[in-house]
Parts: sequence; C-alpha cells; structure tokens
Amino acid sequence: MDKRERTLAVLLAAGSGKRMESKTKKQYMLIGGKPVIYYSLKTFQESFIDEIVLVVSPKDVEFCRKEIVEKYGFDKVRRIVEGGKERYHSVAAGLNSASDFDYVFIHDGARPMVSAEILERTLAAVREWGACVAGVPVKDTIKIADEEGMIAATPNRNFMWSVQTPQVFSYPLIKEAYAGLLEKEKELLDAGVAVTDDAMVVETLTGRPVKLVEGSYKNIKITTPEDIQTAEIFLKNSERKSL
Ligand code: C5P
Repeated sequence: MDKRERTLAVLLAAGSGKRMESKTKKQYMLIGGKPVIYYSLKTFQESFIDEIVLVVSPKDVEFCRKEIVEKYGFDKVRRIVEGGKERYHSVAAGLNSASDFDYVFIHDGARPMVSAEILERTLAAVREWGACVAGVPVKDTIKIADEEGMIAATPNRNFMWSVQTPQVFSYPLIKEAYAGLLEKEKELLDAGVAVTDDAMVVETLTGRPVKLVEGSYKNIKITTPEDIQTAEIFLKNSERKSL
C-alpha cells in the first residue's frame, strides 16, 4: 500500500437490533465465544487500515472501551463515539470525529465475516472510482410490491445486486455527501426517502457513480436469530482452514 494514503474505518455498532428479538444487542451476542463486533474489528486491526472510529450507543461506550477495545488490544481504535437515531446519523458522527484521510471504509459491525480479500478489492476499486460498495449478485428473483402486497414489477435479475459493507469512498466525497444529507434531511424525509446505505447518500446528494465490487455470500449481516447459527458455521469452517 502507498504509505502516503491514509485510510479510516468507521465501524457502526449503534443500532438497537429490533429484529433479533433478544435482550442482548446483536453486535454484542457471542459467536465462537466472542462478541459479533470483535470479528470485524480484528479484520480491520490486522489490515492496512490506519485508524478505526467505533460508533456505539451512548450507554455502551464504557463497555466497548473496557470489554472489547482494551481487552483484545485493538489499538487502531482511536475514538469511540456516540451514534444517533438512524444509521446515517451514526455514520455522520463517525465522519465528523475524524479529518485528514484519503479513503473511508464504512462497515456494519453486524457483519463479522468481512475478509482481508474484500478490504483489498474495495481499496483497489476506490482508488480507481472514488466510490465503491461490496455486494453480491442476487440468487433469488426479486419482485417490487405495491401497497396491497401485489407484484408490481419484476426487475431483470441479471442486473440485481445485494449490497453489503464495506462501502468505501474518497474522504472529501463522503464528507460532502453527508453534509448535504444533513442539510436536506427534512426535505428527503418528507418525500418518503429511506436512507439505508452510504452509496445512496453519494448517489442522491452528489450524483457521482458508485462501483459495485465483489463481496462474499459469507459476508452476511446478523439481523435475525438464525443468522447467528449461520455465522457460527462460517467461523468454524474458517478456523478449520487456518489450522
Ligand atoms: O439496522 P441495520 O441492520 O441496517 O444496521 C446496520 C449497522 O448499522 C449495524 O451494525 C448497526 O449497529 C448500525 N447502526 C448504527 N446506528 C443506528 C442504526 C444502525 O450504528 N442508529
């Protein structure tokens, strides 16, 4: 890696995880005896990334500092900041806490299976395109539904991707996009726009194209209880391979 390039990871863990139906938030549930968030932190810690900003709920800051960052020696985590109500508020909080980087890797802490290979592929793509996201072609046919739950359209599957994180951007571009989003937040909300990923913020607020990069079918987001079991299996298989 070119040493003049400085890379930041914003690792998001400030969600409440309503779909998990569990008292423990999904990012702190255990897989392989360690919290979900441990695994992506480890991958970023061992990569070319220079610094990590961890974004958590206000009441989890101390727990994360002691029980995760200090306990496992993740010394690339320079700041633990408080997230906000929606994911995009948490991203904005992470971005505002840092300056002077070339590229920013925004990653959901709920995706423990992110790999060194995905980080390398997205780094290569962001150098070329300035904006890229990891994703995989969909396996299922996707339908667009109307308000009555009837099928309204069937988009061509050959062009459909399921988008993951990391989503990676040149630093000035993502700062510009998020500043624009916060300025136009009310207008967008009133128009019924749901902001669910960072690429969408860049597409909508800057009009800049975003490149899709091969992620992995294993790079799942822990969302519902069965995802924990799936992640356990992936983890066991990867441990067996590295023996
Ligand atoms: O809710 P969803 O599964 O899309 O969340 C994706 C990631 O964003 C998770 O890692 C979650 O902790 C994080 N998030 C956040 N702040 C929020 C909502 C979600 O950091 N307000």
